[in-house]
Amino acid sequence: MPEVDAVVTARRGLALAVLTADCVPVLLADPDAGVAAAAHAGRPGLVAGVVPAAVRAMVSLGAAPERIVARTGPAVCGRCYEVPEAMRAEVTAVEPAAHAETSWGTPAVDVSAGVHAQLDRLGVCDRAQAPVCTLESENHFSYRRDRTTGRLASYVWLD
Ligand SMILES: [Zn+2]
Repeated sequence: MPEVDAVVTARRGLALAVLTADCVPVLLADPDAGVAAAAHAGRPGLVAGVVPAAVRAMVSLGAAPERIVARTGPAVCGRCYEVPEAMRAEVTAVEPAAHAETSWGTPAVDVSAGVHAQLDRLGVCDRAQAPVCTLESENHFSYRRDRTTGRLASYVWLD
C-alpha cells in the first residue's frame, strides 16, 4: 500500500479507511453515484488541497458535489493547535477559515474549519464535524498529547 493522503472508490461494499492521530479524518460519499472517498487532512494537506482533490476525483467517477455527504472526525481543535505566527500566516493565506487562536491566546490553526470551508466552496453542503478534540479527549489518541503512535481509524463504505 503506497503512502497516500486520500483514496477514492466507485466499488460498493469496499470500505475505505483513514488513520489519524490529530489530523482531520475526512469521509465523503455520494450514495446515488456509489462513489466514496476517505482523506487525511493535516495542516500540509489543507494547504495542498487534499480534500478538493478527493472531491474532484469523486466527480470524475460520477459523483455530484450537491449529493456528497461529508463527515470529519475527531481531530485537534483550533483552541489547542498552537503554531508559530509565520506558520499560521502561511496557512491562512491559502485558507482564511483556518485562522484560530489557542485558549491561551497564541496563534493557532483550525484544520477542521479550513476543510469545511473548502468543502463549502466546492458545493458540498451536507457536512458535519465530530464535536471532539483529540487533545482534550482522554478517549481519543493524540500524538501531540501522548507522544506515542496510537491511531484512530475512520471508515466509509456504500452498501
Ligand atoms: Zn482542543
